[in-house]
Amino acid sequence: MKIKKIEPFIVTQKLKEPFYFSQWEYQSRIICLVKVTTDEGTYGWGEGYGPANLIKAGIEFFNQFILGMDALDHEVVWQQMYLRSLDYARRGVMLAALSAIDIALWDIKGKHFELPISILLGGRKNEFVKPYATGLYFSNGGDLKEKLVKEALLYKEQGFKGIKMKVGLGIVKDVEITTAVKKAIGDEVELMIDSNHAYSLKEALQLCHKLKDLDISWFEEPVSPEHYDSYRQLRENTHIPIAGGECEYLRHGFLQLFQNKSVDIAQPDICAAGGITEVKRIANMANTFGVEIVPHSWGTGIALHAALHLISNLDSNPGRMYDSLPWMELDRTENALRDELTVPLIIPENGLLKVPELPGLGVDVNEELLGKYRID
Ligand SMILES: [Mg+2]
Repeated sequence: MKIKKIEPFIVTQKLKEPFYFSQWEYQSRIICLVKVTTDEGTYGWGEGYGPANLIKAGIEFFNQFILGMDALDHEVVWQQMYLRSLDYARRGVMLAALSAIDIALWDIKGKHFELPISILLGGRKNEFVKPYATGLYFSNGGDLKEKLVKEALLYKEQGFKGIKMKVGLGIVKDVEITTAVKKAIGDEVELMIDSNHAYSLKEALQLCHKLKDLDISWFEEPVSPEHYDSYRQLRENTHIPIAGGECEYLRHGFLQLFQNKSVDIAQPDICAAGGITEVKRIANMANTFGVEIVPHSWGTGIALHAALHLISNLDSNPGRMYDSLPWMELDRTENALRDELTVPLIIPENGLLKVPELPGLGVDVNEELLGKYRID
């Protein structure tokens, strides 16, 4: 079954309400999807995480090397793309292009064998995963603390067992908003914080110290991803678990986090770090180092379905009879590309997500709507 056609699509949505985090503002969403079609007519969808135009260019670059290859040989195709880009793109956006194609090939393989990707990966070690709500971004106008508390209570009401909020506004403001949110949601809902590497080691230490009684489940990207040694020092000096890795790529990149003892929780993005093929390898390595994996997930239903399958296959670490279900990131901010363009929708029931049983990813793109959102 040969790869016959590889079509990247750039889709966008202008947001009704822009939001921001510790680094910059989002006015719109722009995502690069890819559709890979075989000579037998089977097709698969993939998605890259990062600058869509560059991912599209990356996909077009890989085209020439993989057209005509066997679509079922996903590791052989992966290796071809990896070697073709290795000399100048060991990290970064070319790997998001590789990831998108890799995900599409897993989708094809699942459809061909009429099996969900979770089974192709080795089976579902958990039938359900536990989504946590990502939201609580910053916005202009109004009382921020009040707005964040209201949003957190909405997620609690919807049954989420965990909520992740942004920090990075400075220590004083962060302590104020974090304390208010935790007080509002209570002990039965877990709270994670994410500064998107807004802090120096000293500042991050100070924030951890001031939040020490709030029972924070993890502190994500506390410092720059260029400073894994600072991650380690922070980790040694706080009881708050440290998470990171959404800006890291390939098993070779994650090896640095693990060898430096930088994180309790590693967060590869399947749509950037090397696709399902590579994140499975990263997960195996993480397990060897005693590190937990909670993938970073963002984007459309394609990215979310890829995460669901992979997470259901993860080994618990260390594992015990009454183990809790694995976490999955579920962004709750406005996203029509997730809610309209891809079907079916991912909707938690009783605070849990069931792993899809349809062949492949179990998600499709509504191609009639593609024209509405497409800008390339
Ligand atoms: Mg993050």
